[in-house]
Amino acid sequence: MNILLLGSGGREHALAWKISQSRLCSKLFIGPGNPGTALCGTNVDLLPTDFESIKKFCLSNKIEMVVVGPEEPLVNGIVDFFAENEELESIPVIGPTAKGAQLEGSKAFSKKFMKKYNIPTAAYREFDLTNYEEGITYLKDHALPIVLKADGLAAGKGVIICQSYVEAMAEYELMLQHNKFGEASRKIVVEEFLNGIELSVFVLTDGKHYVLLPEAKDYKRVGEGDKGPNTGGMGAVSPVPFADHVFIHKVEERIIKPTVEGLLKEQIPYKGFLFIGVIKIGDEPFVIEYNCRMGDPETEVVLPRLKNDLVELFVATSEGKLNSARIQMDELVASTIVAVSRGYPGSYEKGYEIKGLDRTYPDQSLIFQAGTKSDGGKILTNGGRVLCVTSFAETIYEAVDKSRDVLEHIEFDGIYYRRDIGFEFL
Ligand code: AMP
Repeated sequence: MNILLLGSGGREHALAWKISQSRLCSKLFIGPGNPGTALCGTNVDLLPTDFESIKKFCLSNKIEMVVVGPEEPLVNGIVDFFAENEELESIPVIGPTAKGAQLEGSKAFSKKFMKKYNIPTAAYREFDLTNYEEGITYLKDHALPIVLKADGLAAGKGVIICQSYVEAMAEYELMLQHNKFGEASRKIVVEEFLNGIELSVFVLTDGKHYVLLPEAKDYKRVGEGDKGPNTGGMGAVSPVPFADHVFIHKVEERIIKPTVEGLLKEQIPYKGFLFIGVIKIGDEPFVIEYNCRMGDPETEVVLPRLKNDLVELFVATSEGKLNSARIQMDELVASTIVAVSRGYPGSYEKGYEIKGLDRTYPDQSLIFQAGTKSDGGKILTNGGRVLCVTSFAETIYEAVDKSRDVLEHIEFDGIYYRRDIGFEFL
């Protein structure tokens, strides 16, 4: 089967690596991909949000399945675009319809959905310019800290945790009156702060049945000991030691099952990944957020631990037969460490040569490229998060150690990475 994968980050390199191992995959194309994905298939010059060009490419290259990495094309309706187009309707696209992607694309939608289906989450209210003054009163009576969330997609920056009323009022005004996040903050959600420990839970669903993939914990802060500003993710581990069977069972019963049943009841077609940001408070799970795609860098530990043929799972997803799938996970622990450019998540420079990628590393370590580009025979940095190194071992400590060993041999100007991924479990 000819497969087109959309996206260009570390998540897509991990997806490409896994898809290319499938017995069902004959040709893999990645649009636009990066030099890492080019090792698993053929990169093509396609923007994931340019549906017309994707259509032309699919028709002229006999594409038989499309896998969508990032959220934007899903929120923009790529699944609906294929379903509504006579020439494309027979090509399965792995991902939810635009309506399903609203679980990520609109915080107000996802909160309403959770409330309706009794899914545990933080108490909240929705505000826009029509009930602006009511929001001010609500904020004044709210316990600190107060969480403000832009309703729409804001490149991962739309959540602000305010420690004081002055800050909350100022952010409230900036978001609603001064369009701090543009269209995304025309409406906002004001939410109770939940104090607990977070993990990422991944599900593949055909809209009726689901399979649970390995869970992961990611490390968002740039500095060691979880200090400093938030980033797109500096590393991840899987499995998560505090997510034992009893806890995961609660997540399934209270969150995953009602979510899939809710989608079905709302008649929202959803054939793709669902990533649930869960917070554990005491022994109880609450939803922090839904995402309609896999996480990055979590994919780089989740997929290496998945023993199943991923394309077989995608076929079962598109045919509505996930009830017959059995997930097999590697018993080994996986950890990944992300190497970033100096200055990230603030401003940083690009275009530095990366050395050490072509050395031979131990089998239990994998390098996934994220923000890279090729230039002649060289690979250059091309983003904040440049690459990540995933390793397997018996323990988190050993897995992190193996990734650090590989990173000792990788160089680019300004390389920085956290040496303490998984620190609370060591
Ligand atoms: P979100 O985009 O909703 O995942 O929010 C980004 C991050 O903000 C989450 O990963 C949490 O660390 C934090 N966060 C979001 N909502 C809450 C909340 N209600 N209580 C505590 N932390 C939160």
